[in-house]
Amino acid sequence: MTDPRANPEPIETASRDELSALQLERMKWSLAHAFENVPHYRKAFEARGVHPDDLKDLSDLAKFPFTVKTDLRDNYPFGMFAVPREKVVRIHASSGTTGKPTVVGYTEKDIDTWSTVMARSIRAAGGRPGDIVHVSYGYGLFTGGLGAHYGAERLGCSVVPFGGGQTERQVQLIRDFGARIIMVTPSYMFAIADEMKRQGMSVADNPLEIGIFGAEPWTEKMREEIEAATGLDAVDIFGMSEIIGPGVAQECIETKDGLHIWEDHFYPEIIDPDTGEVLPDGEFGELVITSLTKEALPMVRYRTRDLTRLKPGTARSHRRIEKITGRSDDMLIIRGVNLFPTQIEELLLQDGRLSPHYQLQVDRPGAMDELTVRVEPKTETAGDTAAVEAAGRDLRERIKTMCGVTAKIEMNEVGGVARSQGKAQRIVDNRPKG
Ligand code: ADP
Repeated sequence: MTDPRANPEPIETASRDELSALQLERMKWSLAHAFENVPHYRKAFEARGVHPDDLKDLSDLAKFPFTVKTDLRDNYPFGMFAVPREKVVRIHASSGTTGKPTVVGYTEKDIDTWSTVMARSIRAAGGRPGDIVHVSYGYGLFTGGLGAHYGAERLGCSVVPFGGGQTERQVQLIRDFGARIIMVTPSYMFAIADEMKRQGMSVADNPLEIGIFGAEPWTEKMREEIEAATGLDAVDIFGMSEIIGPGVAQECIETKDGLHIWEDHFYPEIIDPDTGEVLPDGEFGELVITSLTKEALPMVRYRTRDLTRLKPGTARSHRRIEKITGRSDDMLIIRGVNLFPTQIEELLLQDGRLSPHYQLQVDRPGAMDELTVRVEPKTETAGDTAAVEAAGRDLRERIKTMCGVTAKIEMNEVGGVARSQGKAQRIVDNRPKG
């Protein structure tokens, strides 16, 4: 008999009607739970003149106020919790590069929900009970490592809890243990792939068959590049700590056509980031998510700042989001032109001579912003000075033509561009603040 954990849960392929009925029931609960137990929500609802009882239909959600990252910061550390602190069995916190970190908490049931959606995600990615799963997402306060870990255990996999760093050893253990699945940021995967090459591991020797990559934006071109370099199937996973961590949405291996939001737990909307107006499915805007089952930290209309669009379900009935273009706060405005790092990534990877490691630097030496794109050649090209120079010139041209920005290309030696061991830092912004 096959292990029942190998099959999708019935809700993953439920009809839209069944899903909507469940969402409505859960949304009513979630709004009431937030209103009754979190002073911030009570105040925010009252300021808007809405009450949880006003939700009769899913579209009524638009009447409720948004929640933003600063609401969590303003209620630091535990003010947004909807349960007594003693009921919180786990606390995570985001990096918080500036100011206070964003603190999130989980009850025992929340951890169970998270493990369920992560197990579901790994299964949708092609994982099966019995697989060896190598986790290179960072462990600790970052939700990536433990989220992947609990989900893989729940699915019945053998987990190797490596975390980030020690790339040489990562490769050794992947080979020695015969991991079938790796869970890591796409940028760190490249450092691992480089190390595999350095150790003489060919695509044929590589035991990895599936890579579950997320925590940062990455393009279709990047997928092709990773798949060619390693021979694995690369699929996208999405999430954020405020909503639960990784496992909010996952791409299916059989379709690789965007990420299904697990809509029985997380309700998505797309809004116009400027007006806050809800946009119809298919239109491009900011993703807003409402948690439907979270106990410790209910989130009502959380503005993710991630830009994407909603599409109908395919391999699962749950709606899909298109690959995230970037976060609104990662958008650079260079001399009046809007630019996301993923646009540069796309152009850079069109050139087979350049490696996928890159970084953008913005300076303002005088009145004008200057963009420098830091790149390096692939090892195969590095010896051919003329080819390397031509690649730099071509990239400059393509950026000018496609994005309308004049950029300086800084061509580094192989290994010269900073490597990430977690989320890549794509932007170095040296412009004066404020
Ligand atoms: P922080 O806000 O400190 O980065 P998180 O680790 O919770 O904390 O990061 C969540 C964010 O990471 C998301 O809002 C999104 O911007 C980004 N992210 C996560 N997964 C993906 C993905 N698959 N594609 C693009 N961006 C992603």
